[in-house]
Amino acid sequence: MYCQVIVDIVHENVAKPYTYLVPEGMDLSPGQRVAVPFGRMEKEGVVTALSEDTNVSPEKLRQVLRPLEDYAAIPPELMALAREMAEENHCPMAETLRLMLPAQMRGGRVHPRTEKTARLTVFRAEAEAAIAANKRGGKRNELLRLLLDGNARSVKELEETVREPREALKKLQQDGLIELYDVESMRTPESSFTEVKDPGYTLTPGQREALDEILPALDGRGGAFLLHGVTGSGKTEVFMAAVRSTLAAGKSAIILVPEIALTPQMVAWFRGRFGSVAAVIHSRLSAGERYDEWRRIRRGEARVVIGARSAVFSPARNLGMIVIDEEHESTYLNDRHPRYDTREVALSRCRRENAVLILASATPSILSFAKARRGDYTLLEMPDRVNDHPLPEVEIADMRRELESGNRSVLSGVLRQALKECAARGEQAILLMNRRGYHSFVSCRSCGYVVKCPNCDISMTYHIGGYDGTLRCHYCGSVMPIPSTCPSCGGKYIKFFGAGTQKVEEEVHKLLPGVPTVRMDYDTTSGKDGHGKILEEFRSGRARILIGTQMIAKGLDFPQVTLVGVVAADLALNLPDYRSRERAFQLFTQVAGRAGRGSLPGRVIIQTYKPEDPVIGFAARQDYRAFFESEFRRRRNGLYPPFTNLARILIESAQENTADRIAREMDTAVRELLEDRPEWRRKILTLINDPPSVQYLRGKHRRQVLMKTLVSPETEAFFGELTVMLAAPFEGADVYLEVNPTTMI
Ligand code: ADP
Ligand code: ZN
Repeated sequence: MYCQVIVDIVHENVAKPYTYLVPEGMDLSPGQRVAVPFGRMEKEGVVTALSEDTNVSPEKLRQVLRPLEDYAAIPPELMALAREMAEENHCPMAETLRLMLPAQMRGGRVHPRTEKTARLTVFRAEAEAAIAANKRGGKRNELLRLLLDGNARSVKELEETVREPREALKKLQQDGLIELYDVESMRTPESSFTEVKDPGYTLTPGQREALDEILPALDGRGGAFLLHGVTGSGKTEVFMAAVRSTLAAGKSAIILVPEIALTPQMVAWFRGRFGSVAAVIHSRLSAGERYDEWRRIRRGEARVVIGARSAVFSPARNLGMIVIDEEHESTYLNDRHPRYDTREVALSRCRRENAVLILASATPSILSFAKARRGDYTLLEMPDRVNDHPLPEVEIADMRRELESGNRSVLSGVLRQALKECAARGEQAILLMNRRGYHSFVSCRSCGYVVKCPNCDISMTYHIGGYDGTLRCHYCGSVMPIPSTCPSCGGKYIKFFGAGTQKVEEEVHKLLPGVPTVRMDYDTTSGKDGHGKILEEFRSGRARILIGTQMIAKGLDFPQVTLVGVVAADLALNLPDYRSRERAFQLFTQVAGRAGRGSLPGRVIIQTYKPEDPVIGFAARQDYRAFFESEFRRRRNGLYPPFTNLARILIESAQENTADRIAREMDTAVRELLEDRPEWRRKILTLINDPPSVQYLRGKHRRQVLMKTLVSPETEAFFGELTVMLAAPFEGADVYLEVNPTTMI
């Protein structure tokens, strides 16, 4: 017997499977991990196929050393997925196989934990006779008594009653009365998530209708749905019900959320409803816990998995459904190699396994909605909120007028008034300030010098409190004191510019002394369970006003919130990225959707210096369709994705001249490549060697070769060729190909 093995080495020259001899009596199946000799080393690998014969000459053949587990760690469906992703990414399969396993499993860094266990090997009567016969048998008799009922007990458990039982247990085993053996034990992660009982809602007609479309697809037919429901329409309830049906049909489900830490509510519902058949994969799990959760899923003991994007690769048994909640979030894109879009991976998995895919959002991505319109997904719409709660009223505050009338505060007159009224009624408010820190950056008012990070081409951020008035870089974490004079001109008018969450909080305190507030941003949430504590503070009502960055916009459901303020809409609209309009619309709509979710009506105030901007208007009317049509047209006319690809070769090096040189070489190499392939050349709209907006980051100089291309099979082939070209290591630099990355700083 022979087997093909993908050896766990990521290198172009090792990309193909190697043939090994399977020793007599060793039972292997595809997907199983094995240890194999490779050169002079021992390596881990994954079996891809088995065969009766081979055309590899016998003297070249070497034997598999041993299986690493006695089961296939990677089930056939995931093997197929890894193969497909390797082809699409033009990368070795070893690289995509790594996605399918918990990282800690490679290199044997975690092992199943075992527990010594004891059990009786004789009938009860015999054991009782032994107790009676052994007049002086203190510990031994005690232990026998504990085991009399015939159930196995771990030594640890026995230790609770009998001190230091090991010696006595050994003797009992020698006498043939009991047996001691190892049992695999699972590390059950300590849950910091609370459980919430199933409220047992009766579905609304809208929810019923959506569910009725989904359920028939669960019979093995499969299908893909885009569930577009306004905020508060009860989308969660729809897919929870669908998950319940999936379980009832004996299948399993995967639920993906943008970030586990930001969705404690979902996890709580989940735990409450599905109990121990649920596995929650989050970043605070230890290596061992992660491995154990993975094994519970692989064995089919955990049949509902909730996690962030990498959970799409969970080895769920008999997969019935994948849900992607808040499908528009950019965290679903994995930028770095091997790059993937979780939505595409999930679709491919569902097709292969005849499962159902549900993409849910109040503000679907332009890409997904375009696909639904084209018929790739079945569109399910829920235009109404649960229990006829109205959508909140949205008003626009023109900040230019405020300035004219002498209001220099970050809060407009209407927002101040609304906050006062809200507080007086004892209700809660949320203020969005999508910039963190007290004052964003420090600059000189005489010469315009901006204090930048010594490692990055990014301005340093100033914070009060906690940091003793230091400046910090949010990209690399470096810290420096505030200069008292300008390092450039020596002047002393070096001051802070721009307002952040702390500034807003300060103004709220001045406006409403004594009203408790809580702040949620990068700085307040960095500690362990930072999000959970802040949200609990607000949920319990101890804090009345929540002030935060974009992280507060996500999936939160607080029935007492009746007022939402977007403090500086322009900051979101003016980012240098073709997606900033889409992101801004999503942000405003999502955050507005936090208001009026309970029985109290909601009010939203958007502050802007540019009230005539159409995106502000669409957001104010919460008109997704109109926004989609306008944005879709703009992308088509302006040749932006999804009508084109924006790609770049990114070069990072500690040496500036190395980065420069490689960028020039890449530019030339691409041009030469295209000269030979006119059919590719025709698909390239722009090709320039143009430095990125951030030329220095985390101590590395950065350069890029930017490309805008049409979407076509030829372009894919071109990207494939580029990937192969970039696979060779570069002296003193890292070189990446990025296609439609989430950010292009
Ligand atoms: P969405 O995700 O669409 O914004 P949610 O799923 O968070 O909306 O639901 C909004 C609120 O309505 C939640 O508090 C939820 O518990 C409640 N809810 C959902 N479905 C029902 C129902 N059928 N009856 C009563 N309340 C419901
Ligand atoms: Zn930095």
